[in-house]
Amino acid sequence: MLNRSYLAVHVVNVRRALCLLYRDIAEVIHIENGQFANYDFRTWCELSVLRWELERSEQDEFIRTVAFPLQVPRVVRLMRYDRMPQTTVRFNRRNLFARDDHRCQYCGKRFATSQLSIDHVVPRSRGGTTSWDNVVCCCLRCNAKKGGRTPEEARMRLLKRPVRPHSNPHFLAKLRQPRYQMWQAFVGRLTGEREQSA
Ligand SMILES: [Zn+2]
Repeated sequence: MLNRSYLAVHVVNVRRALCLLYRDIAEVIHIENGQFANYDFRTWCELSVLRWELERSEQDEFIRTVAFPLQVPRVVRLMRYDRMPQTTVRFNRRNLFARDDHRCQYCGKRFATSQLSIDHVVPRSRGGTTSWDNVVCCCLRCNAKKGGRTPEEARMRLLKRPVRPHSNPHFLAKLRQPRYQMWQAFVGRLTGEREQSA
């Protein structure tokens, strides 16, 4: 999702994007042959039908409504939203797991979210903080094995030293998928913004 000045500000799901489109709060930004085009909801609906019939690509997704196929937009712009992108990455489970690629930072294996927990490298009982540089993604088994000890005491080695990520790791993971290729056009602006503020 872009703000009024075409800066990437949020990642939202399709349902939310379509709601904002329908209410005329947002418009679709579509890139074709290197050209940007802006569409309101009605025009996007009409275009969706044409694209469904004539030029669907493998990466396009459509929602089959009762009346017509509606293409899932990849980029929408909030036409009256002026706030700037957040320059610090919010500390939460989702972003932490994405930073560590869902990989236990002790045994190195990847796990589903339900099989992962959060480990304080320096335990909280020893004054370890809940922050980017003291918390890692950890499987339940390694977490139980480590207990309330430091990695040295437990004789466990971290894959890498935990640090605060510069860009939203959840966003970067999506960016690597071909279907979100259109996002690339806005990433330069986003990272440029972040470098300036860093
Ligand atoms: Zn593990």
